[in-house]
Amino acid sequence: MARTLPAELSLRKLRDLILDGDPGCVCDPELFTGPAGIEPEDEPETNQAARIEVARQVCASCPVRLPCLAYALRTRPAAGVWAGFTAEEITGLAAAASRRPVRANPAPLREANRLTATVPGQGKGGASARSAEVA
Ligand code: SF4
Repeated sequence: MARTLPAELSLRKLRDLILDGDPGCVCDPELFTGPAGIEPEDEPETNQAARIEVARQVCASCPVRLPCLAYALRTRPAAGVWAGFTAEEITGLAAAASRRPVRANPAPLREANRLTATVPGQGKGGASARSAEVA
């Protein structure tokens, strides 16, 4: 998939782009959400960190990562890994995109900046501005 998105896409269209684009997470959803039947706080920390790292690697090569990021920035999921970011990181990116004061981890911002660098119509506004426009 091209690394650009039209300026305005509905959530439904973004969802359809993701589902129709062979998303990498369909083969093992629990890798992205955590083990079924186990509350997130009950998943051992080392297991969770390893699981999230593998999920990030799957996302890195996913053909629909950009619409997935746009979808997550709009819906702000409470859990899971989306486009290679944890729900907490998505919240930080979305807040940064809306230019609210945040203490966002700069690593997700740099990665989102790289991912959305070719969104049309975006000038030099920094990662948060570009992220806001695709969301
Ligand atoms: S980027 Fe990751 S979470 Fe999003 S659709 Fe692809 S594999 Fe799934």
